[in-house]
Parts: sequence; C-alpha cells; structure tokens
Amino acid sequence: MKMATLSRAAMDEIRRHSAEEFPDECCGVVVADAAGRQRVMRVRNIQNEMHAKDPERYLRSARIAYAGHPGDLRVALEVADAAGSSLVAFYHSHPDHDAYFSDEDTAQATPLGEPSYPDALQIVVSVYDREVRTIKVFAWSERAGAYVEAAFEEK
Ligand SMILES: [Zn+2]
Repeated sequence: MKMATLSRAAMDEIRRHSAEEFPDECCGVVVADAAGRQRVMRVRNIQNEMHAKDPERYLRSARIAYAGHPGDLRVALEVADAAGSSLVAFYHSHPDHDAYFSDEDTAQATPLGEPSYPDALQIVVSVYDREVRTIKVFAWSERAGAYVEAAFEEK
C-alpha cells in the first residue's frame, strides 16, 4: 500500500473544522493544485436540514451523520477538476466516536456499489469535546472490495 502524504496545513485546517463543528459532523474535500499544494475546501453539512424536512428518510441528525451541501461539493469538485489539479481526499468527523470507516460511510462513498472516487482518500477525524483525538485515512482497495486503513504521513 502506498504511503499517502497530507500537508500539515491541510490537516490543521481539517482539525480546526472538526473542532468548530462539534458536536456535529463536519465534511469537506482536499484538493491539490498543479504545484501539489493541498487546499481544504469545507462543505456545509446539511444533514440537520434534511433530517428536519424528511425525518423518515433522513433518520439521523448531524451528530451522527453528514450530507454535503450539493453546491459546496460541486464547487470543490470543479476546483479539483481544473487543469493540473487533483482530488486528494474527502474528510468528515466523528463527534464522540472513534475514527473508523463505518458501514454508512461505505454506503455513502459507494452509492452504486462501486466507489464514486476510487482514487480519493477518505479521512475520518475522531473528536471528543472539541478535541481531535485521532485521524485515520482509508483508501479503496480493489482487492478487498472495501475501504481499508492506509498509512499516511503529515508534512
Ligand atoms: Zn463516518
């Protein structure tokens, strides 16, 4: 498995976002420009709005789920699509839970049974009381047919 590299600046921004949104989940995208510089694009979590509008379909509140604002997501993916740029990772937080890639996370990342973005990493942040405890990174494994934990370095 290849070692993923995430910039300290990007990871610091993800930690800030996770702490700020606590006790709700946060989500966002990491994109790299042509020079390889990583940038975090926050995506609003609209899970609470969805839950309020349609609680039978969206059973869970933003404390234990996230739904990315479609407009924010579109903008982030457009930036990642620009010439020379790339989509590095999606991230979201787990308030008062550990950093693991849940069945719901897998379902969200593979809406059609296959990953929508197989080359993008999935970063999960465990945050308790606004303090980030651990961050884990997951990558799609073709062989396992699942997201598996990936080694990463922060620099
Ligand atoms: Zn999750």
